Amino acid sequence: MNSSVTLEKITALAKRRGFIYPSSEIYGGLANVYDFGPLGVELKNNIKKLWWERFVHQREDIVGLDSSILMNPKVWEVSGHVSSFSDPLVECKNCHARFRSDSSEFDVLVSCPDCGGKKGFSESKQFNLMFKTQIGATEKSSTDVYLRPETAQAIFINFKNILDTTRKSIPFGVAQIGKAFRNEITTGYFIFRMLEFEQMEIEYFIREKDWEKTFKHWQDEIMKWALDVGISKENLRFREHDEKERSHYSKRTADLEYNFMGDYKEIYGLAYRGNYDLTAHKLSYTDPQTGEQFVPYIIEPSFGLERTILPILIDAYHEEEKRIVLKLKPSIAPFKAAVFPLVQNKDEIVKQAREVFDLLIKSGIYTAWDDRGNIGKRYLSQDEIGTPFCITVDYGTLEDGEVTVRDRDTMKQERVAISKLSSYIRERI
Ligand code: ATP
Repeated sequence: MNSSVTLEKITALAKRRGFIYPSSEIYGGLANVYDFGPLGVELKNNIKKLWWERFVHQREDIVGLDSSILMNPKVWEVSGHVSSFSDPLVECKNCHARFRSDSSEFDVLVSCPDCGGKKGFSESKQFNLMFKTQIGATEKSSTDVYLRPETAQAIFINFKNILDTTRKSIPFGVAQIGKAFRNEITTGYFIFRMLEFEQMEIEYFIREKDWEKTFKHWQDEIMKWALDVGISKENLRFREHDEKERSHYSKRTADLEYNFMGDYKEIYGLAYRGNYDLTAHKLSYTDPQTGEQFVPYIIEPSFGLERTILPILIDAYHEEEKRIVLKLKPSIAPFKAAVFPLVQNKDEIVKQAREVFDLLIKSGIYTAWDDRGNIGKRYLSQDEIGTPFCITVDYGTLEDGEVTVRDRDTMKQERVAISKLSSYIRERI
């Protein structure tokens, strides 16, 4: 990890440049909830698109799903979430603030981290993490439902629908990207722990005999994905859960952890869920060739979207002598290019620059326009948001039809013909 980066610097840059804002800020905010600004939403969409292309479009064995957030509450009873999806909590006897009691930090606490009081803590109690809401006009006639705490269950309950409407046979997977909600008590580490977040999950259905090799396959895939979106290998490690730590459904779990400035925390989970889920929902599979009927086993790779973004921002952040630069992979950078007219007051240059800008936009390359201040300042501004290529239209362009393309990382400049510009950029992203 580069030594200059801190979480405060990432948070400040994310806010200043329109990546991530605290939610409801004009009303004092809402803890652990964030909004993604104009650049943040581009970054998010680029990551989701890459994930979908890689795990759905490029694989014949995986199909997609986009399910509802609200489901029949029976789903969560049967899945075990109503009884078991909880964290152990204690309450400060002085200020009643709640803390998780299953952390090593809590084991050594002598006073309350919130009020400093030394009256001690209550007995540990299980606290369910699901948000409840109601469907129905009046409180009396309404039904309690939950905001889904994971996207996985919707895949299980659609298992039969998917089998009936596709030609998939085991082994195959179903992928989904969507919001999940958890009433988390521990305070956040910026966007690491949120109340509302996005998961990118795959449920991969197999025969029991194949679970070890499939687990290994997904362990490799998860690592390759993390590296390909720009997370540094040196900050990643897999950690196996011991029996006590594993969720109620899991037979083996390994987390991909990221070294957040000295503190390894989970960014992705890989779980062997056995055949717990489909058994619970009374769903099974019939082999189309042999007629054999059985309950499939499941391997679940689960990727948090915000827990992808935070490590990417940390690893991309570089402070150099005269600039701050986000060395994002071009494929996920919000803007792929920026176009500058060298001067603002020369109509032919501005007009030519507009034509270059339009050409790039129309060819599907998301491009920024900047004609404020001097070129040096415009470069600095684009470096800070990770734009890989800055293109300047100058007096020479009017003569020879070439523009200056400046590379974000090397700062090297090259003359490129306007007619070749789109393919020049496309080849590099
Ligand atoms: P943690 O131990 O950090 O609470 P978890 O083990 O409960 O996480 P899982 O239930 O395995 O997490 O969820 C799968 C993935 O969803 C996680 O690997 C993470 O990427 C993401 N995730 C879970 N909870 C949150 C959250 N509160 N905010 C953001 N992402 C989350």
